[in-house]
Amino acid sequence: MANGLREENIRRIIALEDRICDCRRCPEQLHCVRRPAMGKGELSPDIMIVFEGENQYTSDLEQIIELRRLLKNCLGVKKIYHTFMTRCTPKACSTRHSVCCYTPSKLLDKDYNCILTKQPCNGVPVTPDTTQILHCLAYLIEEIDILNPHFVLLMGERVSEFVLKSYGIFDLPEPGRSYLSNQRYFITAVNEQYFGEGECQQLAAAFSA
Ligand code: SF4
Repeated sequence: MANGLREENIRRIIALEDRICDCRRCPEQLHCVRRPAMGKGELSPDIMIVFEGENQYTSDLEQIIELRRLLKNCLGVKKIYHTFMTRCTPKACSTRHSVCCYTPSKLLDKDYNCILTKQPCNGVPVTPDTTQILHCLAYLIEEIDILNPHFVLLMGERVSEFVLKSYGIFDLPEPGRSYLSNQRYFITAVNEQYFGEGECQQLAAAFSA
């Protein structure tokens, strides 16, 4: 990628991340989120992986490294970026609900301790609802537009369904299929927890496009 384009991409990604950090579209989810999840990796990727949100898998660096190794070995892609459909993972929290806490402020301090209990946050991550996904989807679409990957790998049925619909594709997503939109291939896969060598090899035909 030419230097000028790389700098422009960096500038646009930083501006996008600033807006995501300041976003308050889902106020009820923000109490237990210190920082929204951001994309990571090559800024001119061959492939962009999209996860539904942060979870135990995506927070484990070893898992991410292993997934990248698998994609490189099985599919021959070199430059990889991963990102999230929903940036602020909702959490179920009995502490938050057992106190009359009407503050719109975040309840995690800079060390990720809960300011109510003074203990590390023990909220349980739960799946984002449709409203939250729709609030957040525009950031992903913008990120895809900026980084312009040739392949977008959609991890899991919900990610596949929402992203494909955003591009006007209303098929029921099946893992291992590829969908062409504006010279970009959207490839559907199983949820990251179930994605192994066998699943990766099944994608080879879609990636030979
Ligand atoms: S989940 Fe997305 S839309 Fe909702 S507050 Fe976080 S960044 Fe904003």
